[in-house]
Amino acid sequence: MSEECLFCKIIKGDIPARKLYEDDKLLAFWDIAPQAPKHFLVIPKQHVRGPGALSPGDEEIIGAVVRKGAELAAENGIPDFRLVINNGAAAGQTVFHLHMHVLGGRPLSWPPG
Ligand code: 5GP
Ligand code: ZN
Repeated sequence: MSEECLFCKIIKGDIPARKLYEDDKLLAFWDIAPQAPKHFLVIPKQHVRGPGALSPGDEEIIGAVVRKGAELAAENGIPDFRLVINNGAAAGQTVFHLHMHVLGGRPLSWPPG
């Protein structure tokens, strides 16, 4: 838990979010500024700055983020989807609490910008 972190505030319930899923380790919620018709985020409740800050022993939590994201995509009518985890400002990270984007609902071009 980090006092200033926006996503920790969402986990605590201090800031509202449209939640899709929650358990003791994970939270998933719709992105406030969707980049595709379907765009949600999956985060660990444990505060980790980004994928570059994962430690040995965090394999289970990052695996759970990916698996739950894929399951929620299927449940929400998104058979084809893209998973994105930005690390660092130059890569597009704006919230420094590890989060995986799940994007779909339209054709997605490659390479990304
Ligand atoms: P990043 O750019 O760090 O990879 O992704 C951060 C994401 O968080 C962005 O897609 C942004 O729209 C989303 N976001 C930022 N603030 C909020 C918020 O208060 N609520 C929700 N639901 N999403 C947010
Ligand atoms: Zn946090």
